[in-house]
Amino acid sequence: MNDNDTMKRTFASSIDKTNIGQNLTFIGWIEDFRDMGKIGFISVRDMTGNFQGVVTGELLSNFREIPRQSVIMVNGIIQETRAESFQVEVKVEKVELLSKAANPLPIDPTGRVISSLDKRLDSRALDLRNLRISNIFKTRSNALYLIRKYLFSKMFVEVNTPKIIGSATEGGADLFGFEYFAKKAFLAQSPQLYKEQLTLGLERVFEISSYFRAEPSHTVRHLSEFVSVDLEAAFLEYGDVMDIIEDLVISTIKDLYANYNNQMKHFDDSQDILVDKIPRITYEKCLEDLKSLGEKIEFGEDLSDPALRKLGETYPKFYFIVDWPTKLKPFYILEHEKKSELSKSFDLQYGYLEIVSGGTREHDSARLKNKLQEKGLNPNSFSNHLQTFEWGMPPHSGCGLGFDRFMMILTKSTNIREVVLYPRDTERLSP
Ligand code: ATP
Ligand code: MG
Repeated sequence: MNDNDTMKRTFASSIDKTNIGQNLTFIGWIEDFRDMGKIGFISVRDMTGNFQGVVTGELLSNFREIPRQSVIMVNGIIQETRAESFQVEVKVEKVELLSKAANPLPIDPTGRVISSLDKRLDSRALDLRNLRISNIFKTRSNALYLIRKYLFSKMFVEVNTPKIIGSATEGGADLFGFEYFAKKAFLAQSPQLYKEQLTLGLERVFEISSYFRAEPSHTVRHLSEFVSVDLEAAFLEYGDVMDIIEDLVISTIKDLYANYNNQMKHFDDSQDILVDKIPRITYEKCLEDLKSLGEKIEFGEDLSDPALRKLGETYPKFYFIVDWPTKLKPFYILEHEKKSELSKSFDLQYGYLEIVSGGTREHDSARLKNKLQEKGLNPNSFSNHLQTFEWGMPPHSGCGLGFDRFMMILTKSTNIREVVLYPRDTERLSP
């Protein structure tokens, strides 16, 4: 094989009856070989789909030697087929083995033999040869594209802030620390302070990146490394940010079903995640709802996992929980002027699952300093951040959307590890 050969390859999905009689070359992975003695049928897959090849004569013995999932280059004539799932088939004239696969493989990527998630993650590269799995990651790529497109249309500027930071972003806990030359450094848990600062020069910013939390969680929705879509905008209130998130979530889902249905059909295409509106329910209303469901939570307490699961039965799809108690939210969240025990904050939920947290930010440096103290943090460790509030800091609001959790919803996955290529949790550090 030389470079020219691969340039001349034909993709599996591009052949139809108009190609009958042509001699074409394909490259792909052998998914199946059915040996009927005098005739054999191969199913070969490339990035676009499968084609069927018919093998006869001396070539049959070649194919008997090639293990499944090996890479072959096949040359042959396109002809009519009796197979129902193909329009045409390839009468194989030549085969070249480009890369031989081991036999047996650690998992069966066709999915005929079911493997545990752990085993699949151990062989993730091979796992991607399963059609449903590869479509999870194609959908991930498309969702990122659609989110970027949406935010650009709203005049947001994409930024990249450091992930190696010198001090804890939002308080000391939960950070991975490491040695950085002669200093101590940490992996960023969010871009919170940077994105707020950037509103003073760019007004509207967003960032899509990995963040790191050293929380020893053992759940299906937490990882030590996760991807967040963060946005921050000057002169918007938390209600405006909810409008943006509502529009972003609904339009992304609509667009995926409308334009990428060949991928979405792999995940139960009932389209029940498609909604017209996302209701906004106050934290206090949630407490009332929970009380009537027999779950008593005092004002000021966080909504526990069992409480969120109960709430998720009442509101099984997307809903916002708004106006959380001030004491439950971080120092940078602004409180309501007339009711300081409530904050201008929101979470977007899908059933029990939290997807987004956001709110209006405190932009007055003196009040921010007080807030830090009230939360037991030392304003001196935030001096770099606080000084930017003296440089014409605009009132601003923003949020962070857990992209992996959003992907769980888009692909109807119950474990976050399904939608992350190489997940990191308390146990898993490789591959
Ligand atoms: P939770 O209460 O579910 O642990 P959080 O309130 O601590 O989440 P935030 O700090 O509000 O999380 O982060 C914003 C969003 O980032 C969350 O709504 C969630 O979607 C996502 N997120 C946070 N931590 C993780 C994690 N460890 N793994 C995956 N996604 C996460
Ligand atoms: Mg949160």
